[in-house]
Amino acid sequence: MQEISLNRCDKCGSEAKVHLPYGPHRLCAQHFNEFFEHRVRKTMRTNRMVKYGEKVAVGVSGGKDSMVTLHMLNKVFGETWQNRIEAIMIDEGIRGYRDKAIEIAEEYCTAHSIPYNVVSMEDELGISTEQAMRRIHEAQGSMGATCSYCGVFRRQMLNRTARETGAQKLATGHNMDDEVQSIAMNVFSGDFTRLARIGEVAGGVKSAKLVPRIKPLYETPEKDIIAYAALNGIRHYSDECCPYSWMAKRNMYRKTLNDLENAVPGTKHSILASFRKLKPALRMLESNRSSAITECAQCGEASNSGTCASCRQMEKLMEMRGNKAPIRPKILKKDGALTCSQTKSVG
Ligand code: SF4
Repeated sequence: MQEISLNRCDKCGSEAKVHLPYGPHRLCAQHFNEFFEHRVRKTMRTNRMVKYGEKVAVGVSGGKDSMVTLHMLNKVFGETWQNRIEAIMIDEGIRGYRDKAIEIAEEYCTAHSIPYNVVSMEDELGISTEQAMRRIHEAQGSMGATCSYCGVFRRQMLNRTARETGAQKLATGHNMDDEVQSIAMNVFSGDFTRLARIGEVAGGVKSAKLVPRIKPLYETPEKDIIAYAALNGIRHYSDECCPYSWMAKRNMYRKTLNDLENAVPGTKHSILASFRKLKPALRMLESNRSSAITECAQCGEASNSGTCASCRQMEKLMEMRGNKAPIRPKILKKDGALTCSQTKSVG
């Protein structure tokens, strides 16, 4: 009888380096890389993420997901030279965290001749995440929902910078785990408008101000990304987490879903597959209900109400300061309405 070794690659019989709980598969480094890259290419191809000749901006934080996304896109497009990529790094101004991560991302871009932009939240908005958190703490005695401020500003800055660089798509490092968490969070909070908008090509709404967001790692579990980065020596920031991330509601969902996945392997794949079946119906339902995307009356960015989420958050921060003086003096229009300045390009 043939002996089945748990430490042998299913494909070639050499030493297995990665054990995938779903499948299950045992793969050597070479066959794992092939499997991983094939899945990312397939995700991009079947979802028609990028068209011939399009420029793709890549949102890079310096963490494993965005570094692997950047690496994969550089690899895929480097083979044909039919598409260009440009990295965008948002510096939220969280010292000892984002500065270190950006350094790693800059190093990769320089080594691979990828143009990049570092956009400072403090320069652009007049306030960094750290300063905003201090203000919230002083006003409320607690930090509250940190990420709801920081994340809103960061998303808008990423979109605007991508648009200003002339990109037709904005790639982010969201992986399968992130998507499954977002699905669960929106289901549990009953936010079907947001639920209808998430997916491999996020948005579902068209606006000249919005660069469509694509997620090449949409079908890739987080653990596979960690393994791929390690096997391929892709340097990424992996020290301390963001000092404010412990407050994120997402953490609870991450833990619960990981527990479920450990108890019943394949759960995350099933949630994603169920969501994909439901999505066409959800989008149809929400297209009748959701309001059209217009421009924010204050900053001119895309918004589904008179004032965009970023300006609304900024107004809250201004109120906390106890006066009406604007926080973002650099982007003030003469009449007091806000406009957006150009981002600085250091690449
Ligand atoms: Fe900002 Fe939250 Fe991310 Fe920290 S974890 S960088 S506060 S969005």
